[in-house]
Amino acid sequence: MIVAELKPFSEIEEMIKGKQHLLLVGCATCTAICFASGNREVSLLDSQLKLKSLMKSKEVFTSERMLKRSCEHEFVEELGSFIEKSEAILSLSCGVGVQTIADCFPEIEVYPALNTLFIGRPDESGVWKEYCQACTDCLLHLTAGICPIARCAKGLLNGPCGGSQEGKCEVSPDIPCAWQLIYDRLETRGELHLLDEIKKPKDWSKKNLPGRVIREDLLLR
Ligand code: SF4
Ligand code: SF4
Repeated sequence: MIVAELKPFSEIEEMIKGKQHLLLVGCATCTAICFASGNREVSLLDSQLKLKSLMKSKEVFTSERMLKRSCEHEFVEELGSFIEKSEAILSLSCGVGVQTIADCFPEIEVYPALNTLFIGRPDESGVWKEYCQACTDCLLHLTAGICPIARCAKGLLNGPCGGSQEGKCEVSPDIPCAWQLIYDRLETRGELHLLDEIKKPKDWSKKNLPGRVIREDLLLR
């Protein structure tokens, strides 16, 4: 899932400065799961904006909408009838959602209320961690299902670096050394031979930028 968090309120205030009619749009998918863009977060931000506008005696008129997904045109188009009275949209979604809304409604300003952080997962209540950097050439089959790119501080393909202490990373001692984890799991499986072969530097030309996937079998032709 994509993990995001709300921008500091002062930054949001600065972005929307001068706008009186705002449509706050939440997203019910990834960023709602990490408590950044669900109904509750949209309402809280709405209340905060209204309270601040009262304190400054500058009235702000807001309305709220929740999209099932902000990153797909078919859902975003549902906003069509709600944007007429709005000067700007404040989107609580990942960067893809913000861009999708901006593409669908290029005549109106769309502001990002969230900072998009990474692809990750919740590991315990209130804790999300990064697990993938979308390198486009996955090697998890060689590393016991543990990603050295996202989870090793140096992104080493052939670790460990030699600096880990008691299983902790030398760069960030509060996190486990990813390569220690890889070694331990391979050892448990009796697959340490997978470490014998030196992995070549990644062919980053495979990472076409911007990223794109085309499934011929799904194209409407
Ligand atoms: S190797 Fe790591 S960064 Fe690359 S696709 Fe696999 S999990 Fe993601
Ligand atoms: S200590 Fe481990 S996780 Fe940290 S940089 Fe070195 S190999 Fe990577």
